[in-house]
Amino acid sequence: MAELNQLIGALNHAADVIEENKQHLTELDGAIGDGDHGINMSRGFSFVKKTLDEGGFQTPADLFKKSGMALVAHVGGASGPLFGTAFLRASMALKDKTEINSEDYISILKAAAEGIKMRGKSQAGEKTMLDALIPAYEAGETALSQGKDTQEVLQAVKAAARTGATDTEKLVAKKGRSSYLGERSLGHQDPGAASTALILGAIADYFA
Ligand code: ADP
Ligand code: MG
Ligand code: MG
Repeated sequence: MAELNQLIGALNHAADVIEENKQHLTELDGAIGDGDHGINMSRGFSFVKKTLDEGGFQTPADLFKKSGMALVAHVGGASGPLFGTAFLRASMALKDKTEINSEDYISILKAAAEGIKMRGKSQAGEKTMLDALIPAYEAGETALSQGKDTQEVLQAVKAAARTGATDTEKLVAKKGRSSYLGERSLGHQDPGAASTALILGAIADYFA
């Protein structure tokens, strides 16, 4: 599926898509949070881009590690440490692999979700980024078990993340700032789930 250079390209594309959607993400967070998610993500991913430009990594694991550290260091909101942890877990899952195939990709997503669960003390159904990420890797696992090719796996992940994010409208927030709203969080999409779907969508589009 991807060597180091293609991963750099895919992450750069994800960063661009986040930047394009900065306003949208901020609006989603404005409805049920403090209205900074677009700003936080845009800032975080601009530092990821800087890290990618600087280069100097030898393996995909190294690239994810440096990108994750950039997110942890430069994003003030809850999403920085959470996405940062996701990237660091992805890095650990890869060990010294030089190339990533579709199985590795799904393992990365699963490891990332486990990291977010631990760091955020959160689980599925609490109206967070996990409600895009968990259905996404589960759809990937299903596609793999059906013998689907890389393209199909990536598209299955993208579609499930998008549906998962949209479906957060039906969930009451239990974690993060939006949990202060309780039932009033219903009818709104979780911003972190929306940005997760954008990132996974951008990765699928990059390799399409
Ligand atoms: P902040 O809430 O600090 O302003 P952001 O607005 O950048 O940070 O990010 C908010 C997003 O972070 C939420 O939409 C949600 O998806 C995610 N989030 C918040 N707390 C948790 C948690 N404990 N576990 C998982 N995700 C969380
Ligand atoms: Mg916020
Ligand atoms: Mg904030």
